[in-house]
Amino acid sequence: LVVPVTSHEALVGVLLLGPKTNGETYLGEEVELLSLLSHHVASVFENARLFESATTDNLTGLLRRETVLAHLERELQRAVRHGRPLTVGMADLDHFKAINDCWGHLVGDSMLKRVAQAITSGLRSADLVGRYGGEEFLFVLPESDGEGARAVAERIRRAVGEIQLRVDQRTTLTVTVSIGMASLSELSGDEPHHAEPLIALADRRLLAAKAAGRDQVRHEA
Ligand code: GH3
Ligand code: MG
Ligand code: MG
Repeated sequence: LVVPVTSHEALVGVLLLGPKTNGETYLGEEVELLSLLSHHVASVFENARLFESATTDNLTGLLRRETVLAHLERELQRAVRHGRPLTVGMADLDHFKAINDCWGHLVGDSMLKRVAQAITSGLRSADLVGRYGGEEFLFVLPESDGEGARAVAERIRRAVGEIQLRVDQRTTLTVTVSIGMASLSELSGDEPHHAEPLIALADRRLLAAKAAGRDQVRHEA
């Protein structure tokens, strides 16, 4: 038996049932019940879709800014409570405006998608990343400090640098990224344990990485 699952008159799935073990055919009321069930399934799908589009960025599929900030706040409270390390990284693409200006925004968008994949490939399963601004990405590394966090950021920097975006027969575009990092252990005891001072510190180091020539990671002053 095949029961369609529809949402807004579009087929979004099917319920597939095998033959009954006793060999009987499905009764009309059973089919009606299944049809009722399919409506519930459709609304679960629809809610999941709405939740996903509310929490993730359309273009890159990464978490939205508000979502990654909410996750960061939660991870931060947990790290403080348990005395565990936590590091954040702010990444900004280098001279990205030039890609848009020379090749147009659609090519810029394709590059942003590839960058999102590259960043994700550099992270571990417990790490989080969101699109913080147009071409700025915030990543959260729970349980990471010092060398471990630096290694993740370096992996991301290298992965982004390895992107080869083919735009025509003769042209392949590349891009680099600058990253500023900040760890919870660097905040002084009287600073509130909130995301802002941590992000502000990562931001300052991002600017320092830009000033020092870009395509680099800055951690600790
Ligand atoms: P810098 O190395 O100093 O960061 O130089 P930059 O050119 O990358 O400067 P900045 O970070 O200020 O540039 C941001 C640019 O990113 C401006 C805008 O054209 C582009 N941008 C932001 N959001 C999007 C987007 O969603 N799609 C595309 N295609 N471009 C975007
Ligand atoms: Mg920027
Ligand atoms: Mg930039």
